[in-house]
Amino acid sequence: MTQAVQSEIYNYIKQNEHVIEEYIEKLGSFGRLSEGGIVRPVYSDQWFAAHRQLADWMAEAGLEVRADAVGNLWGLHGRKSAGKGYASGSHLDTVKEGGKYDGGLGILAALAAIRFLKELYGEPRLPLEVVALCEEEGSRFSKTFLGSRAITGTLPAEELDENRDAEGISVAEAARACGFNPAQLDSARRTDLAGFIELHIEQGRLLDDVKLEVGIVQAITGTRHMTVTFDGQADHAGTTPMDLRSDALVAAAQAITNINAIALKMGRPAVATVGKLSIEPGATNIVPARVVMTVDMRHSEPDKKAFLICQVEQACRTAAATQRVEVTFEREMDRIPAQMSPEIINLLKATADELGISNMAMVSGAGHDSQVVVEQIPTGMIFVPSKSGRSHSRAEYTPLDQILPGIAVLAQALYKLAY
Ligand SMILES: [Zn+2]
Repeated sequence: MTQAVQSEIYNYIKQNEHVIEEYIEKLGSFGRLSEGGIVRPVYSDQWFAAHRQLADWMAEAGLEVRADAVGNLWGLHGRKSAGKGYASGSHLDTVKEGGKYDGGLGILAALAAIRFLKELYGEPRLPLEVVALCEEEGSRFSKTFLGSRAITGTLPAEELDENRDAEGISVAEAARACGFNPAQLDSARRTDLAGFIELHIEQGRLLDDVKLEVGIVQAITGTRHMTVTFDGQADHAGTTPMDLRSDALVAAAQAITNINAIALKMGRPAVATVGKLSIEPGATNIVPARVVMTVDMRHSEPDKKAFLICQVEQACRTAAATQRVEVTFEREMDRIPAQMSPEIINLLKATADELGISNMAMVSGAGHDSQVVVEQIPTGMIFVPSKSGRSHSRAEYTPLDQILPGIAVLAQALYKLAY
């Protein structure tokens, strides 16, 4: 590609930055609370209104619009018959009181990129598609990655009826209420894509700290969720001497301190978090008999993730033995680390370098649709900075001038792939 074409796309994006700003502001108004956060669980009224808005924008951009069986929204540019094409997008749902960039920005970046490519260069050699994946966050139903599991054929049909929200409404019922046809789940599977690129906010503070424009994701961290239960003995807090107690909370406290130290010592990107704790019987004057706590452990390398889990379990056993309490472990969730596709990583890196956009290789500490998609389709991710690393919060923010470089890399990469 000539230098002229390269700067042409980036310049066009800069000239049309108001389009991107309007997209972001408008999409962020669906589900916005008066105090600022956004609540947009899958298939809710607000979600569906956002879905219709996106469909309108895709149609206005001249894309061929369709929703699949679970409500993933696709906008096609080019001819399907031309061969395997490329898709870009992210998820439309939000966490409870989330921000307007998590997920939404990836859809809008793809829409803007493909719209601008169409305006500048017309018909591509291979088809390009924008996708708004219906669900990723698990904020309505207990299971996550509904959209990406549907397109990779890894969503079991039973789950649509068995997975229910707090009101007892199943995924299938909620999807049907929006006019989708979940009985046709198989038809949502995509075997005709040659690649997928997801732009997303970092949701961490590394890019913001080092003041670089984009992150090229190498891997998405593996996650293990575990419930640890310490069983001691409830005793009178006044009459039971310290040396005769089996205090479940003291054991948990020792374990928590050690879990923190283990991940810290392993170094980045290892993380381990105890985020939830329940104490029984939970009274001022009773020695705690039982503590149930959650542990979230993550690492991007499988062997180091296994090492982290092993160390954490050992720390819990040691703390339990010291306090003469029992400890049991329950595995709740286990996701193996996902390596992004080398060919897409190389393409994104080369494209950023050619555009003079500062970039760094990164590991994603958060889960993303890309970790599901990459199991079937060559996939890569572009990160743009998150102000102070804030995310899953109404404080989530990325200024427009820190969004444009990411969209430029995306648009340029799609140009190289499809034109
Ligand atoms: Zn997200």
